[in-house]
Amino acid sequence: MGGPGNWSTGDEVPETGTYTCTYCGPKGTGAMALKLAMEKIGMPYQHTGVATKTPPRQTFEKGATFPSCPNCTNHESGSDPTGWALCTRRWWEFWKGDMGTGDMGRGA
Ligand SMILES: [Zn+2]
Repeated sequence: MGGPGNWSTGDEVPETGTYTCTYCGPKGTGAMALKLAMEKIGMPYQHTGVATKTPPRQTFEKGATFPSCPNCTNHESGSDPTGWALCTRRWWEFWKGDMGTGDMGRGA
């Protein structure tokens, strides 16, 4: 997918720079989706799994292929939710602005 971030494992690196994974960590999309899902069913939310880890910061060269995030590659879902974003962009603001906060995680 295009846009400012969220490149997956195997995607081509669009520009040389330092990238971080947007899925893992306490502010990651994984944590946010789980939090919303828990709130919907009235359960208290606690960080678990990749939400407790520090997202990596790695430098990639333009034209290379994104690897799996070291935190997300063995995700308990069995899939690879890795989502790389350029560290120079404030990706969390993109997420808030582009996707809103209401529907994330619905039907996951
Ligand atoms: Zn990750």
